[in-house]
Amino acid sequence: MPRHPRSIVVVGAGPRGTGLLERLGANLPELLPDGELDVHLVDPFPPGAGRIWRHAQSPLLAMNSMAADVTMYTDDSVVCAGPIVAGPSLWDWVQRVRDGELPTETADALGPALWAELTAVDASTFPSRQLQSRYLEWVLRDVVAALPPRVRVHLHTGRATAVTETGEDQWVTVEGLAAPIRADSVVLASGHLDATPTVDELDLGARAAAAGLRYLPPEQTTDTDLSVVRPGETVLVRGLGLAFVDLVVLLFEGRGGRFVPAADSSDQLRYIPSGDEPVLVAGSPRGSIYHSKTHYQLRGGRPPLPRHFGPADIAPLVAGGPVDMGATLWPLMAKEIAWGWYHELVAGHPDRVTLDLDEFAARFAALRWGTAEMDAFLADAAPDPLDRLDLDALDRPLAGLAAPDLDALQPLVVDRIAEDLRQHVDPRHTPHLGAFVAMLSVYGEVTQLQGEGGLTAASRARDVPWWQSFFNAVASGPPGFRVRQILALADAGLVRFLGPGMWVSVEGGVLRAGSAATPEIVTSTILVDARLPDSSAARSTDPLLAQLVRDGAVSEEILYADDGTVLRNTGLIRVRPADGALVDARGAVHPRRFAVGPHTAVKVAGAFTRPGMNAQSLRYNDAIARAVLASLPAESAAAA
Ligand SMILES: Cc1cc2nc3c(=O)[nH]c(=O)nc-3n(C[C@H](O)[C@H](O)[C@H](O)COP(=O)(O)OP(=O)(O)OC[C@H]3O[C@@H](n4cnc5c(N)ncnc54)[C@H](O)[C@@H]3O)c2cc1C
Repeated sequence: MPRHPRSIVVVGAGPRGTGLLERLGANLPELLPDGELDVHLVDPFPPGAGRIWRHAQSPLLAMNSMAADVTMYTDDSVVCAGPIVAGPSLWDWVQRVRDGELPTETADALGPALWAELTAVDASTFPSRQLQSRYLEWVLRDVVAALPPRVRVHLHTGRATAVTETGEDQWVTVEGLAAPIRADSVVLASGHLDATPTVDELDLGARAAAAGLRYLPPEQTTDTDLSVVRPGETVLVRGLGLAFVDLVVLLFEGRGGRFVPAADSSDQLRYIPSGDEPVLVAGSPRGSIYHSKTHYQLRGGRPPLPRHFGPADIAPLVAGGPVDMGATLWPLMAKEIAWGWYHELVAGHPDRVTLDLDEFAARFAALRWGTAEMDAFLADAAPDPLDRLDLDALDRPLAGLAAPDLDALQPLVVDRIAEDLRQHVDPRHTPHLGAFVAMLSVYGEVTQLQGEGGLTAASRARDVPWWQSFFNAVASGPPGFRVRQILALADAGLVRFLGPGMWVSVEGGVLRAGSAATPEIVTSTILVDARLPDSSAARSTDPLLAQLVRDGAVSEEILYADDGTVLRNTGLIRVRPADGALVDARGAVHPRRFAVGPHTAVKVAGAFTRPGMNAQSLRYNDAIARAVLASLPAESAAAA
């Protein structure tokens, strides 16, 4: 009987698809020691970078990570079953390009703008997305070059639109290909997906359209047609996260405005308008932009983690079955974050505390988070209130803010954002970085626990969205230079804050917006929802996913109460947490279909990671790649 080479189709050639290929290659000697293998990477966008990181986007858009914090490669810190294969982080890559060590990465190949950026960045720069695009494309080439000749990688520029099965074979239809690709195993690394509007968004859109108003629903900001936003008009913006930052970049600098150092301070900026910009009036449930990124190093060394919220601490709590995050886990989660904060305070700023690290660690460990005893101990240990962690303030920085009108509200919001920036830049406040490092550790443990069924459905429906949002607000904020730009725009009166508890309505032929912080109501003829669409496999505009949902081959994660009522449909694709295997609508695991990335129910923090962090994303890529290789048939039989 004729034999085919074994074949894997990876749908999506962004960071996840690329990272997966790297791990497939690394694990090959052990799990597929001989035989030919075809790997098909399918993506309508450039392979390596994919849609989010494609070069064809505004050069003004920047990464939200520092150059030294972005790697696609494993290192000795990564605890995974597969072998460690070192490779350059973005920052290493930049230096190697500068030193002429990478033959394809010349000034000519990069072009003058990217080359100028490349020669200027340092480890702590937040590089442009275009530079990251180039790094990711190089990583893909590097990964492919390291594969043995028996592995062939095929790059297909096109969208996968369907997967069918005949016997053991799967067939992937790709736009532009005359015939479907045969696959033994298929991986959906399809990332951030567009979705048709929700019922509420449709309703708002219909009412806005009926009144001749403009409503831009949630969307990937780089793909939004912003030409409908007119110069000088007031634009209501709902959402102050990273999509808001992109919107600001595109509507101000993107329309010809410029930031220059303010005359009175080298740190502050002044905005020189182009005349083409609108006025944004923006709000959200929190009412404030995310906390700034930190711009300093740890002074006390990396806190030993996990310390209070690791597997050994969690196991006894969940031994009796799934638990409630708020009631059972949060005290330990908070204590772990606080451990990161106070470890840095005590070890890095010993002059500001009343005891040494050993004594602090022992007494801190003995007390329960959230008790009067712990509060009293911390007040004693760190006399300056600014040195004490306030998780409530981090979560709701504008809680309780009130002003008679929008004008009076502005300085209140702006002062808090400016103070937040100061604390994330001034090395006196490095405990923020300690807390951030601990939060990453907590995030990983929560993901793991969730995957193991350790949380009740009610808690997953209620607490996990809150935790994700809190994590984003604290750990995924904009770099300081973006915060300075937003403050300059606020100073120019071009970005105005509505405050926390924002609401929107269509009434009397206009859009109206207000908040819990002020009685003033703002009217406008345009509203932008500045955020990505909520995850929804069922509403996905991706034809492949739509087909798989229709066929029952992909199912959404639905959280049920004990009495069978639906608590929440997360819209995320159900997978077996250990290996990303797809779970169909009947609850059966497909042995040779997998999904990995932000569209799945396994939430892994970031696609990129700082080297030396034993990052969850690298460990997970390894686990999926090993499962995919293990799923391949001993020999691939020919189909009819
Ligand atoms: C605007 C934005 C900025 C971000 N900035 C950062 C940052 O600075 N640092 C960080 O660590 N993380 C950042 N993230 C997080 C982000 O999740 C990751 O950086 C990363 O892009 C995720 O990789 P991915 O491959 O899973 O998904 P994606 O990057 O979305 O890639 C998925 C790919 O699948 C393709 N695809 C989808 N459907 C099909 C189909 N049917 N057929 C073929 N191809 C298909 C898409 O075209 C896309 O190229 C950012 C996210 C966004 C949205």
